[in-house]
Amino acid sequence: MTMLSIKNLHASVEEKQILKGLNLEVKPGEVHAIMGPNGAGKSTLGYVLSGREGYSVQDGSASLQGADLLDMDIEERAKAGLFLAFQYPVEIPGVSNLEFLKAAVDAQREARGEEALSSAEFLKMAREASKQVNLPIEFLKRGVNEGFSGGEKKRNEILQMLLLQPKLCILDESDSGLDIDALQVVAKGVNSLRSPDRGFIVVTHYQRLLDYIKPDFVHVLSDGKIVKSGDASLALELEEQGYAWLNKQPEDDA
Ligand code: ADP
Ligand code: MG
Ligand code: MG
Repeated sequence: MTMLSIKNLHASVEEKQILKGLNLEVKPGEVHAIMGPNGAGKSTLGYVLSGREGYSVQDGSASLQGADLLDMDIEERAKAGLFLAFQYPVEIPGVSNLEFLKAAVDAQREARGEEALSSAEFLKMAREASKQVNLPIEFLKRGVNEGFSGGEKKRNEILQMLLLQPKLCILDESDSGLDIDALQVVAKGVNSLRSPDRGFIVVTHYQRLLDYIKPDFVHVLSDGKIVKSGDASLALELEEQGYAWLNKQPEDDA
């Protein structure tokens, strides 16, 4: 069965039409990379799927494991197993990372009908995950993202993903200026969570990231639609040739 099914999605922000009939199917176990020119609508796709305020849908559908995503609010989408790693996570001063994560994990477990973790059990999980992303446990006692560097925010995001164990993870690495260390943290996080019952959408312009995360499919998003899909070799082709050739009409070659 399809995990995420997006059909003919049309969405706008500030009355500007951004997604113009986007189709995408992600089956459990698959990793889909989305590439494409700046301004194509890649980040918008993540925001629309996660239910961010200000984005409205005019037409089409998006469902996660058969449930209508577009009908749910942000929290319901998270409980249904959707995870969007934000490019620029917000700071929440006064709430420690650890408290924030515990609340999120509790909500997730409740939604799945699982028992709540004790503080000790949660701390043990959090320690293991923080080791995996190379983030000292002390960071988790600070306010959410308070005073975090870009790299630390990225590690923290991956840590959230490791703890929440979402069904469908969307990572938007397009504009995040990852250094090689952060790139590897992201890749390791994705690879360690890769499993037959989980799907990923990885937005990136870095072909290099795809050396570490081997995608099953690569799609080009241009002007609000998927205009080309292929396997991992498409990413290499795009790196070499850019995106302009995709808009070329066959007769241009004559
Ligand atoms: P990408 O991630 O592919 O670079 P985005 O999804 O960020 O593209 O943006 C798609 C288009 O939507 C761009 O033209 C951008 O300027 C526009 N856009 C994004 N957010 C807003 C907004 N809040 N208000 C108006 N236009 C926006
Ligand atoms: Mg952009
Ligand atoms: Mg973007």
